[in-house]
Amino acid sequence: MTERTYSFEFFPPKGDKGAALLSKARKQLAAVNPAFFSVTFGAGGSTQEGTLETCVETRDATSLPVAAHISCIGSTREGIAALLEQYQQQGIDRLVALRGDLLPGMTDPGEFRYANELVTFIRETTGDAFHIEVAAYPEYHPEAPTPEDDLNNLVRKVEAGADAVMTQYFYNVQSYVDLVERLRARGIKQPVVPGVMPITNRDQLLRFSDRCGAEIPRWIRRRLESYGDDTDSIRAFGHDVVAKLSQDLLAADAPGLHFYTLNRAEPVLALWQALDLPNAAELDNAA
Ligand SMILES: Cc1cc2nc3c(=O)[nH]c(=O)nc-3n(C[C@H](O)[C@H](O)[C@H](O)COP(=O)(O)OP(=O)(O)OC[C@H]3O[C@@H](n4cnc5c(N)ncnc54)[C@H](O)[C@@H]3O)c2cc1C
Repeated sequence: MTERTYSFEFFPPKGDKGAALLSKARKQLAAVNPAFFSVTFGAGGSTQEGTLETCVETRDATSLPVAAHISCIGSTREGIAALLEQYQQQGIDRLVALRGDLLPGMTDPGEFRYANELVTFIRETTGDAFHIEVAAYPEYHPEAPTPEDDLNNLVRKVEAGADAVMTQYFYNVQSYVDLVERLRARGIKQPVVPGVMPITNRDQLLRFSDRCGAEIPRWIRRRLESYGDDTDSIRAFGHDVVAKLSQDLLAADAPGLHFYTLNRAEPVLALWQALDLPNAAELDNAA
């Protein structure tokens, strides 16, 4: 197997306190030398400028590659072209190309309807300048009428010019294995890297999952509920669940892991050590 790709996702921080937290997390996470960091766009009302700024800061602070998430909903071709130019000028050459969701109060989807149109546009206007990742949903995108439609749309998006696929988080390994098998049967050879969400905060996890359609298996939900406000027990249980999930994904030949860090290093690094992932020894030395 080729070398696995491990990556960490951040969101653009808000205010001085958020910036300080991110700066600390990024330094701690850089110690294990990930393949790249990625920076979201739009989450919590963040702007594209916030994404660009955070990408450049992260690259400059760590000297590691950074991928900018770019969403096309509500955008014009001209606007996306200008944004691509900005990224090229700043030397950011990786993108996670997404459709995004209509924000509250936004009614016009703009000139791109789906992410495949964005990927086509990026390739048409910038050739191979960017390494492009696209999103996939092992438990299906909530708007997809059928699993088959979702697969067809994903295949179309990858064939438009994606280099790799990154998934929404999930807690059911078989949904990932099934997705990969179905993609391979359709001739898609690009790596499909599972997205991993550490479990540290029950209410936040349930809120995110309701929004994005990721299923929290009943046994996990019930256990999380049973701990009430005992955050230590929630974290300890969450760590065990996600460590086992990650172990099973790697055993199922996942070509890497993409961690949704929520700008916090500790939960991810605890998993890193538990799984003995590359450069885990660096953490002992740094401690
Ligand atoms: C790894 C990852 C990172 C993310 N980062 C961000 C972020 O930074 N900012 C953000 O706002 N959101 C982010 N999201 C969320 C994402 O924007 C939403 O899930 C969004 O609803 C769908 O985006 P997409 O690119 O998958 O869309 P698409 O691939 O366009 O799919 C959206 C829906 O339309 C259907 N569809 C796709 N193409 C067609 C077509 N040609 N015809 C008909 N139907 C079609 C699909 O089946 C699906 O139901 C991320 C998601 C993931 C998994």
